[in-house]
Amino acid sequence: MKIYDLIGIGFGPSNIALAIALEEQKQTGHHAESFFIEKQPSFAWHANMMLDNAHMQVSFLKDLVTMRNPASHFTFINYLHQKNRLQDFINLKTFFPSRREFNDYLAWAAAHFDHCCAYGEEVIEVLPEKKGDEVSLLRVRSRDNAQTVHERLTRSLVISIGGHPRIPDCFSSLKGDARVFHSNNYLKEIAQHTHAQKIAVVGAGQSASEIFMDLHHRFDTTQIDLIMRARSIKPSDDSPFVNEIFNTDFTDYVFNSPEQERSKILNEFWHTNYAAPDLVLIEQIFNVFYQQKVAGAERHRFLRRHVVKKALAQPKGIQFILQDLNTNKERIVTYDAVVLATGYHRDHYKSLLNPLMPYFNDLKVDRQYRVCSTLHFKPAIFLQGACEASHGLSDTLLSVTAVRTSEISQAVINLFSQSKSLQAKRTMSSALV
Ligand code: NAP
Repeated sequence: MKIYDLIGIGFGPSNIALAIALEEQKQTGHHAESFFIEKQPSFAWHANMMLDNAHMQVSFLKDLVTMRNPASHFTFINYLHQKNRLQDFINLKTFFPSRREFNDYLAWAAAHFDHCCAYGEEVIEVLPEKKGDEVSLLRVRSRDNAQTVHERLTRSLVISIGGHPRIPDCFSSLKGDARVFHSNNYLKEIAQHTHAQKIAVVGAGQSASEIFMDLHHRFDTTQIDLIMRARSIKPSDDSPFVNEIFNTDFTDYVFNSPEQERSKILNEFWHTNYAAPDLVLIEQIFNVFYQQKVAGAERHRFLRRHVVKKALAQPKGIQFILQDLNTNKERIVTYDAVVLATGYHRDHYKSLLNPLMPYFNDLKVDRQYRVCSTLHFKPAIFLQGACEASHGLSDTLLSVTAVRTSEISQAVINLFSQSKSLQAKRTMSSALV
């Protein structure tokens, strides 16, 4: 069986950026044979959150490559040039393209790697391939849509699988009920609820806010309840000094800080990224509620300081027991549909690595994002987007993607040149004997 130097799980922005970095390293004589496996049937970036008017929250200059190599073919600017839209884009006078356009940019970049990416295959497990006591390779098993299992061998693995929907405990028993869905599936699912009269949106982040505005425009009379534990929706702080936490050298600072200090930094800046919609969007939502007051007709409700204590599936809808945290009073409300804009967790990679757990020290990663392993475990495993605790808040964002992939690809190249020179030494000494 062919042995790859590197297999990437997932082909979203992080692994596309890695594919580009590896491709550009070929030009300097460093060749690593890579292959990527993506479970979606074709490239799509948060397809179910591609809402009208949604735009990027990160500057287009933090694209797949610019921070690493502004002269690359794969810059957003070159994409615009290739699509004959550069001048028009300049006239937009924005750093924040629409998400639709950025998705098109990513798809354009991804298409350059169709020859080394299998779409429509879900990786089901990663197994150790042993030589005596030593794990020398990894066997990556994936299943395609026709249920055929594929196996590939690799010397290194890069896991970039993004976030998995965070479902609050009180909704876990409603799994499979089509009336309750995560923001991750919003566009696909909301299309099934064209006659809904009452919809709940749970959350206070960018997703909840974008979805609230989308529902407001999508329906004429439907009531939307925006339900959050917070006292208010707070905007993301993207002022320049605060934004420095997303600079690439801040990664070194966070990584080199003692563990306690790291979590202090994460807590201090948590709201730059989480539960933090754009100010403009918050103003739009405020205006919707203000216009209701002017009209003297309450259509939507802003239920701040409210928690869902229980959610029950009833024939007439999803029944909430809602507690007002200010008064501790509970009330019962029934919804035709519930959107959980409750964010993501990023530890799904752990289940993929389960068979390899005996070789790791509680899944710590080094500065180059490589999972620390025991001496007898030779393959290198890197994580992209799952190292927030050690590398800082920028880890899940595009901000450091270009530079991170350069660090990972360099680590991969170093690894192979070390093992090649070791092999050469071994061959020479056995020839001398
Ligand atoms: P998020 O920022 O993590 O917000 C999740 C929200 O869900 C928070 O308000 C949180 O409230 C609430 N929540 C979590 N668990 C809950 C529970 N058990 N009960 C009630 N509420 C709960 O998630 P997001 O809005 O999906 O954003 C995720 C990331 O994607 C962010 O980086 C965001 O910037 C990005 N994003 C970008 C765009 C764009 O570029 N246009 C669009 C959407 C998302 P608490 O604060 O009370 O925990």
